[in-house]
Amino acid sequence: MIELQNVSRIYYPGKPNEQYALKDISLKIKEGELIAVVGKSGAGKSTLLHLMGGIDVADTGELMINGTEIKKLSEPELNNFRIRNIGIVLQNFALVDDYSVFDNVSLPLRFSTGCFSGKGKMKHMVMEALHRTGIEELERRTVNTLSGGQKQRVAIARAIVTQAPFLLADEPTGALDSKTSGEIMELFLRMNALGTTVIIVTHNYDMAAQCRRIIELSDGEIISDTGEKE
Ligand code: ADP
Ligand code: MG
Repeated sequence: MIELQNVSRIYYPGKPNEQYALKDISLKIKEGELIAVVGKSGAGKSTLLHLMGGIDVADTGELMINGTEIKKLSEPELNNFRIRNIGIVLQNFALVDDYSVFDNVSLPLRFSTGCFSGKGKMKHMVMEALHRTGIEELERRTVNTLSGGQKQRVAIARAIVTQAPFLLADEPTGALDSKTSGEIMELFLRMNALGTTVIIVTHNYDMAAQCRRIIELSDGEIISDTGEKE
């Protein structure tokens, strides 16, 4: 469960240009949900995703992930917590272009202390992620030789490699054609069917329509939430 209580993220607090990227957000996300977060550019979608992913910190309120209040964790604790619990696909892939696909996907395993140690185990987990995203044959390719759709699969493989219970994705099909977007959505649907809680920020209506819950943000506030359909 991800739980936000009265969460705000404020840029330049107290200054004339003070800006609430998120304003007093309260939200519960249960295990197994498939959620689309929609809203205009600047609405706060990425900020929300970054907070839930533990890569940004709220200025007010509480954010609990599976019972842990993440702002109480030290930096190394947060790092390990994140790697075990959350996979995140950032906007524009955020891959290391001159690394191979294998090396990109193995990064979260290398950055964790202890929990995924052992070369054999690492190789097995990377191959499993490549298999799930359908890119086993790209294992040795350098990322900068790949198409946009292939890069997106690599970014997703990296996000799922630790087999974390939560998968967050920020506009994962923003730069892709509609056929490739459909294939990427299939991947998220399959991950969700396997039990992963999936939260997708998207501008794509077809994609949002396939999610069981749609949360709409405007100016940092939730203006509609369809709730979870049973
Ligand atoms: P979205 O992803 O919906 O386009 P964001 O979450 O990126 O929106 O941004 C929400 C608001 O917060 C915007 O008004 C944006 O300008 C502001 N913002 C985001 N990041 C920063 C930052 N690093 N510094 C200042 N303002 C920011
Ligand atoms: Mg954004």
